[in-house]
Amino acid sequence: MSSTEKSQYWHDRALKVIPGGVSSPVRAFSAVGGIPRYFVEGKGSRVIDVDGNEYVDMVGSWGPMIVGHAHPEVVRRVIETASKSSSFGAASPNEVLLAEEIIKRVSAVERVRFVSSGTEAVMTAVRLARAATSRNVIVKFAGCYHGHADALLVQAGSGVLTLGLPNSPGVTPGQAQDTVVVAYNDFDAIRELFAKRGSEIAAVLTEAVPANMGVVPPAPGFNALLAELCHANGALFILDEVMTGFRLSSGGWWHLVNKEENWTPDLFTYGKVIGGGYPVAAVAGPARVMDLLAPIGSVYQAGTLSGNPVATAAGLATLQLCDDALYATLNKRAREVGEVVSAALTKEGVPHKLQNAGNLFSIFFTDKEVHTFKDAQTQDTKAFAAFFHAMLDNGVSLPPSAYEAWFVSGAHSDADIEIIATASSAAAKAAVAI
Ligand SMILES: *Cc1c(COP(=O)(O)O)cnc(C)c1O
Repeated sequence: MSSTEKSQYWHDRALKVIPGGVSSPVRAFSAVGGIPRYFVEGKGSRVIDVDGNEYVDMVGSWGPMIVGHAHPEVVRRVIETASKSSSFGAASPNEVLLAEEIIKRVSAVERVRFVSSGTEAVMTAVRLARAATSRNVIVKFAGCYHGHADALLVQAGSGVLTLGLPNSPGVTPGQAQDTVVVAYNDFDAIRELFAKRGSEIAAVLTEAVPANMGVVPPAPGFNALLAELCHANGALFILDEVMTGFRLSSGGWWHLVNKEENWTPDLFTYGKVIGGGYPVAAVAGPARVMDLLAPIGSVYQAGTLSGNPVATAAGLATLQLCDDALYATLNKRAREVGEVVSAALTKEGVPHKLQNAGNLFSIFFTDKEVHTFKDAQTQDTKAFAAFFHAMLDNGVSLPPSAYEAWFVSGAHSDADIEIIATASSAAAKAAVAI
């Protein structure tokens, strides 16, 4: 077992100055127990903690590190930009170049507005949709995460047509009352909602592929139905590609399925990959909607560090490395990791379901196929916790929750797959033992 002495030391210090010791809750290991590792270095597919332990990284900062840690080209462009200034609070070329790169990749996008987090991107998309429609109601799906804006921290409550109940203290009933939550992949529920309240709905907001409850692919025709219902009822369809954007293909999930499925969102949100590890996110879409934003339109939105030159340089360098060869590698590595882990779990008789949408995948610790958040909640989270810690002890860093996707990068190698296979055998045994 690896030493965790220094991580423990930093965690003790962190607990005195940062709530829960972390800057974002899932990092605290609450779902799996134990000491969160404090990281100091990343190289390609590997991360190294303060105790000097090296791990194969399957978190990749939750997606942004798609070309691996400290990719030389990204580092070079960051240093080159930062050495000339980190921020002007004024217009600069890198944001234009990054917007052009996004528009080149996604045919339905004509305008891009940069913000600093996915949360802000979704907040802006919701504001735009409400302004564009002069309506209030936002529809979201149980288990989909769209950041921590008040109106979106809402859970399913008791039924499809009930008003949203906030699931965080500090979110007022007023902030949540215009959010309606529907079960994911439930065709009848969304049809019924539109039949009853279609004229009140400003937008339907969905993850392009839900991946914040584990990976739950949209049922065939589900996104097309959402787009159709929105457009028949004068609502906007907002596709949240903060996770999937530029990970699942050169243009994200919509770009991947668009030719076959023939539906188009009115707004996209992006984040994670487009910042290459720096705080960049965006709302994007056709000019007819996007040009409602100030200063052309009257919908206010702003940010001191929005379009930051260093952050957009990192994002642009990263996207430029996201070519066909990279996507082929990601798809291959995702398949390999899924196969070796699933084989180890099967060998030990641990109930699990490997689910994927392209190279985005997760392993549910249940024997039931997962189509909804309710299905995801049938997981044996204790078995996952044991599995997680055994993986960590054997040199593999997984997302510390059974409800998260796993992330491959272009830097993952055959040697990494071998380490994951070996660790999985031990971890599968640990998952049985509890
Ligand atoms: C990560 C994520 C967000 C929030 O992005 P932040 O940058 O963490 O605020 C929003 N939507 C989806 C689908 C995400 O995966």
